[in-house]
Amino acid sequence: MKCKRCGKKAIANLRAYGIALCEECYPEFYIRLVKRSIKRHGILKESERILAAVSGGKDSSAMAAVLKELGYDIELLYIDLGIGEYSKESERVVKDLSKNLDVKLNIVRLKDYGFTVDEVARGMRRKTCSACGTAKRYIMNRFGRESGFEVVATGHTAEDIVSFYIKNVAGGAKVWAEKLMPRNEPFDEKIVARAKPLFEMSEKENMLYVLVENIPYTLMECPHAPKPEWKEIVYEIERRKPGFVKNFLRGLVRPAEEFDETRYCKICGEVASGEICAFCKLRMRFEGLR
Ligand code: SF4
Ligand code: ZN
Repeated sequence: MKCKRCGKKAIANLRAYGIALCEECYPEFYIRLVKRSIKRHGILKESERILAAVSGGKDSSAMAAVLKELGYDIELLYIDLGIGEYSKESERVVKDLSKNLDVKLNIVRLKDYGFTVDEVARGMRRKTCSACGTAKRYIMNRFGRESGFEVVATGHTAEDIVSFYIKNVAGGAKVWAEKLMPRNEPFDEKIVARAKPLFEMSEKENMLYVLVENIPYTLMECPHAPKPEWKEIVYEIERRKPGFVKNFLRGLVRPAEEFDETRYCKICGEVASGEICAFCKLRMRFEGLR
């Protein structure tokens, strides 16, 4: 397999785009995709101070690196959740990341608020992740606001959003639209805006970027993580239908206003999505054939 750009040996076949790329051409391609996505969906503003929440995993490391590469004003936030060896390894990695990118790292420790996620896990087991999520959101917002950041960026990926949506719809739950949005503006002065700069990028794309660019990350996983069943279903659909994740996502975030205005067919006057309704177009085509 050869690179479509330069003809060297390709490292990846990106089936969602129908293109294979080499080690040298890939980063440029990736950065351009993220840049386009940020612009198209208004995810970040050029002048704002961004707090990039990092966990040591490939996705948030990729996010921090690409934002720095694109010239945004960023600092890193690492939340020490107090999860045994996992937290220690993650902290080591984000310190490396901070040096590697030459970006300031801020560390907030959950135990300074009186508890750790390991203690939550011992006490309430099944609700660990939901409690952990509450703690992370609280700290990201409070630290972000008190330190004068205008937006907190997280490393959510296309698969995170699609699997979250499918899981909730399948479970009969109402899906909170704001969780699916690439950017959420604050609804109160105590709230800091939230952004997902990688919401259109897949995990594989992020992984390739950190590998090719030697960006520090860890493969270690949180011991409290549940089995990623819905993610596995999403991976399987993507395997059989390349492009599924990105298409699904585009459908989810397409602005509602695109559908708001009702239009009428110029020919027959029935409701139409364009100037002429689908039925009249069809009729014209077959009338012409006669
Ligand atoms: Fe927190 Fe659950 Fe993620 Fe572990 S897997 S860091 S407990 S949300
Ligand atoms: Zn190439």
